Amino acid sequence: MDTATTPRVDTLRINGQRLWDSLMELAQIGATPKGGVCRLTLTDLDKQGRDLVLGWARAAGMTVTIDQIGNAFMRRPGRNNSLPPIMTGSHIDTQPTGGKFDGNYGVLAGIEVVRTLNDHGIETEAPIEVAFWTNEEGSRFVPVMMGSGVFAKAFTLEHAYAATDTEGKTVKGELERIGYIGSEVPGQHPIGAYFETHIEQGPVLEDHGKTIGVVTGVLGIRWYDCVVTGMEAHAGPTPMALRKDALQVATKLMQEVVACAHRHPPHGRGTVGMIHVHPNSRNVIPGRVKFSIDLRNASDALCEAMDADIRSVAARLSAETGLAIQIEQVSNYPAQPFHPDCIAAVQRAADQLGYSNMPAVSGAGHDAVYMARLAPAGMIFIPCKDGISHNEIEDAKPEHITAGCNVLLHAMLERAGAV
Ligand SMILES: [Zn+2]
Repeated sequence: MDTATTPRVDTLRINGQRLWDSLMELAQIGATPKGGVCRLTLTDLDKQGRDLVLGWARAAGMTVTIDQIGNAFMRRPGRNNSLPPIMTGSHIDTQPTGGKFDGNYGVLAGIEVVRTLNDHGIETEAPIEVAFWTNEEGSRFVPVMMGSGVFAKAFTLEHAYAATDTEGKTVKGELERIGYIGSEVPGQHPIGAYFETHIEQGPVLEDHGKTIGVVTGVLGIRWYDCVVTGMEAHAGPTPMALRKDALQVATKLMQEVVACAHRHPPHGRGTVGMIHVHPNSRNVIPGRVKFSIDLRNASDALCEAMDADIRSVAARLSAETGLAIQIEQVSNYPAQPFHPDCIAAVQRAADQLGYSNMPAVSGAGHDAVYMARLAPAGMIFIPCKDGISHNEIEDAKPEHITAGCNVLLHAMLERAGAV
């Protein structure tokens, strides 16, 4: 780095008002009466949103590449274009009752970084790219994080193309219809490092009064179906000692799901969200209860420990009560730690900018999870009001929006090399 330009780069700040105005303008496309956004992936509204963002990118002098799953890459050249780009991005599709910030913030923060570099005539050694990934939300087409997942080869392009919505329309047909099926083979796009800025979608930063979450990784997730089998019998004639009440045993195990999370702090999570009681009748002792278990933690080893914990509790309860307890794992998403260099770059940027910050983990999936399989990756969180997201009342403060983008700017400049 040239010492004559160092102070100029160090004092560089993004234009918070311009970023906020862009967020509000994009939020008009699919705006809902309650102040949220409904812009489902690959709809006409999604096309309008894509066109608007790519128009902004072109106006900022960026070139655009679209790949075969509709991921868009907006590129600002560097001095050495043989270097892989330093990339940021997120998604612009929303949930049916989504907010203005989830995903959109990460994409528009990237555009604002480029606009800021342009304003000040700053060149970077490596190129800068901003991406938006197709169908992150997964509300219209499954699987979620589709574009980044195809890019990272988590599943095939054909699998993604064949996904249908409730009307039987396919991803491939809808991509063609809105004109966003590109020619580049997904994944054939180098990445030097990847950063994603996102609202936290949880309450931790707000609870601690911190501006920036330095994200160290994304929690691993294990899903289970659990069945407790007893014996249906009449609620009147059957004395308490002679019952095989599946619900009473199931509720003990449900309590243990939460206790198990407490036994594996600080990031252990345990949730029972779905319960089916059979025969679900007022005067019949429940004979069978099926429920879901969702366990999460920061490393695969900790997820494995929680798995062993809940299974041993189930075995003990089964032995004590004589009722059969079956636990079947139905999904396993590994934990994804971020790269130490990217975590450090985010930390340094937050410290140098004077923003209060703390380490954070993401309990939700993000496109950055797939990017972390391909390149050094990191994330920057900012608080959102009451930790609420995937809701029309989702809200974030302008000063936090600005702070997160400034951290992104300086983390990217560190990796890209400002000249
Ligand atoms: Zn998101």
